[in-house]
Amino acid sequence: MNPAEAQRLLADVEAFCQEIRPHEEFAYAERRYNDQLVPLARKYNLLGMNVAPTYGGRGADTVTYLQALARIGREGTGVRTFFSGHLSIGAYPIQTWGSETLKQKYLPRAVRGECILAFGLTEPEAGSNPRQMTSTYRRTAHGYVLNGVKYLISNGGIADAIVVFAYPADVAPNDPRYRISAFVIDTHVPGFEVESFTPQAKLGLPTSNTAMFAMHDLAVPEENLLGREGDGFRIAMGTLVSGRLSVAAGCLGVIEDCLAEVLRYAKERVQHGKEIGRHQLVQEHIALIEVARAATAALVHQAAVAKDQAAAQPGDVALAQRADLLAAQAKFFASQAAWEAADRAVQVFGGRGWSTLYRPARHLADVRVCRIYEGTDEILKLKIAAALLGKEWEAFH
Ligand SMILES: Cc1cc2nc3c(=O)[nH]c(=O)nc-3n(C[C@H](O)[C@H](O)[C@H](O)COP(=O)(O)OP(=O)(O)OC[C@H]3O[C@@H](n4cnc5c(N)ncnc54)[C@H](O)[C@@H]3O)c2cc1C
Repeated sequence: MNPAEAQRLLADVEAFCQEIRPHEEFAYAERRYNDQLVPLARKYNLLGMNVAPTYGGRGADTVTYLQALARIGREGTGVRTFFSGHLSIGAYPIQTWGSETLKQKYLPRAVRGECILAFGLTEPEAGSNPRQMTSTYRRTAHGYVLNGVKYLISNGGIADAIVVFAYPADVAPNDPRYRISAFVIDTHVPGFEVESFTPQAKLGLPTSNTAMFAMHDLAVPEENLLGREGDGFRIAMGTLVSGRLSVAAGCLGVIEDCLAEVLRYAKERVQHGKEIGRHQLVQEHIALIEVARAATAALVHQAAVAKDQAAAQPGDVALAQRADLLAAQAKFFASQAAWEAADRAVQVFGGRGWSTLYRPARHLADVRVCRIYEGTDEILKLKIAAALLGKEWEAFH
């Protein structure tokens, strides 16, 4: 993407963010899905930010795309999670591993907002270890039939198509052919049953859709196989690199917003005869949020550059491994830093900080999930250590 196109995209993102804010605040107060998100994202042509122009997208490189997601992250982790689901883990695997037919079938509609996307890997009994999944597929004369349940899926209840993963039903687990495959399923077909989590039951992200869905003998056309049979695990892990970067960028936005809020409030609020920003212990909070922001921005940028370098040399294993490691590091650091920044912002706001009528409390509640989804803190620490120690030292397989 050339600099002028990048500037235009970031200007559209800015306009979107300004327009979405009051809708997001109302939806949050009412603890409901923000139904203005898709219409406004369509209005500003943001539903294909990272999709190639061939399919109608804006063709953003990773560095620009993550700048956009960081800006969106300032509006809340719920808003950013929608884009992660639709683009970073929805459109990305279709664009990267899909056949030309599959790309033409889904990406132009996704960009136009006619086909919202999601990514269904997690199951009730398979979270950190996706290999424990029990979803299955069978070959038929016209394609495949899928059965199983997927759990905690962002956009799952609003998606028109979902990237899902399953084992072959007719192959024994000890057979080398017992390998996960990836498919794109349509949700408006017989055999798809979905149930969204009630926003009241969630600690945060009330404005984002999180759902569970079942596939009951769900028919999938042959062309909807993603990659080749048995490629599913590789596709899932490759997609998580893109997903982790999106989470890290969103967390950067959360820190930026916490900093902006704290700077404003510290100059307004007066206690003990002076603005609280003149109290040294309040200044400590400000200083530590700023250091967290700067460190997170550096890690996110470094990881984005590594991802673009790896994308430019598709066969280079060392570049791909580096991009994978830096994405894990950025996501691990950013999600902890954002959680701590939100906690400090709550503290600076005092009693108001504890209320979800103010931005710090919403960030604190929402950003907590970033230490869980797309790889928990624990899994990412083990991944980072194994990358340094060597594959034979992996703590789990
Ligand atoms: C709001 C939300 C949105 C989500 N969106 C999506 C989505 O769009 N698509 C999708 O597929 N999934 C999604 N998820 C699921 C998410 O990725 C999983 O919750 C996450 O991977 C953890 O899995 P789990 O919940 O089963 O926890 P578990 O895997 O059961 O882990 C429980 C605890 O055990 C720890 N643990 C597990 N294994 C090890 C180990 N080997 N060593 C050390 N500690 C370990 C974990 O770190 C964690 O602390 C979402 C989750 C949430 C909450």
